[in-house]
Amino acid sequence: DDILLRVENLKKYFKVKGTRGPGVQAVEDVSLFIRRGETLGLVGESGCGKTTLGRTILRLHEPTSGRITYGNEVIYERGMLDEKGVPTGKKTAVNMLPYRRKMQIIFQDPSASLDPRMTVGEIIGEAIDIHKLAKSKAERTEIIKDLLARVGLNTEHANRYPHEFSGGQQQRVGIARALAVKPEFIVCDEPISALDVSIQSQVVNMLEDMQEELGLTYLFIAHDLSVVRHISDRIGVMYLGSLVELGESYELNKNPLHPYTKTLLSAVPVPDPEVSKARQRIVLEGDIPSPMNPPTGCRFHTRCPYATDKCKEAVPEFKEHAPGHWAACHLLD
Ligand code: SF4
Repeated sequence: DDILLRVENLKKYFKVKGTRGPGVQAVEDVSLFIRRGETLGLVGESGCGKTTLGRTILRLHEPTSGRITYGNEVIYERGMLDEKGVPTGKKTAVNMLPYRRKMQIIFQDPSASLDPRMTVGEIIGEAIDIHKLAKSKAERTEIIKDLLARVGLNTEHANRYPHEFSGGQQQRVGIARALAVKPEFIVCDEPISALDVSIQSQVVNMLEDMQEELGLTYLFIAHDLSVVRHISDRIGVMYLGSLVELGESYELNKNPLHPYTKTLLSAVPVPDPEVSKARQRIVLEGDIPSPMNPPTGCRFHTRCPYATDKCKEAVPEFKEHAPGHWAACHLLD
């Protein structure tokens, strides 16, 4: 397999001022890989750490520990944490500038991610300039024109400001900006959740076409399984900072292993009434616990209908239970 990106035991904790302890444990020991050219969907409720994971992979947040490998190079490595929460071992953290070109992000809220004082042409041009991708002014103008055409906008749009556009058009600008540097890998961080339902599928189709044409690799983050299951080759499910299940999209939908994934799937409407009847809606009790003080053992045990005493004590191992299908649950052992 041609693996583009590998994440091993990645943790991201945010220190909280005036408190002791590790702080917000937003990403807890996540391991996964992404194949070149695939779309890996990542789902979970808001606050489950999926956005933090996406940003930590790009090192927009500095990881707390673990290892990230891009292609053949380790771009971040820091030993595991000891009992006091202090990372052990030597730290490797490469200069990210060359990787900023290869690894891009498309944000959830296009209006907040575009500088309101810059024209669309300046926004896209800035990315071209940082990475010195145009040899002349004429070439720069040409690249901007091509990018706008690619996302369904036209040359005149280059002189307008973000507020003059609809949400869908703003997201197209965000996509053009990400594409400007000819990336290989894009974190799509809930790119359609802020958009009208009527234009969501247009943006998704555009992302899919671009992937095919340019050979892009996506990490596609969404809170809704119904969005990612159509476009993802594989899907990862996160709960309270942990990756609880990962598998081929079809397999995970047909044969979910983890109780939390079953809950998420039970909320997705099924057109076939027979299947719909068989798949009972599971509603979880209680709120998602605070990542500052996560439950011991399996982080899902406070809400899991199958929890036993063991679940309160021991962290379930993230294991491969069928070829390419991983999950972390004691029930499966
Ligand atoms: Fe539920 Fe226990 Fe499995 Fe966690 S390990 S998902 S609490 S059964």
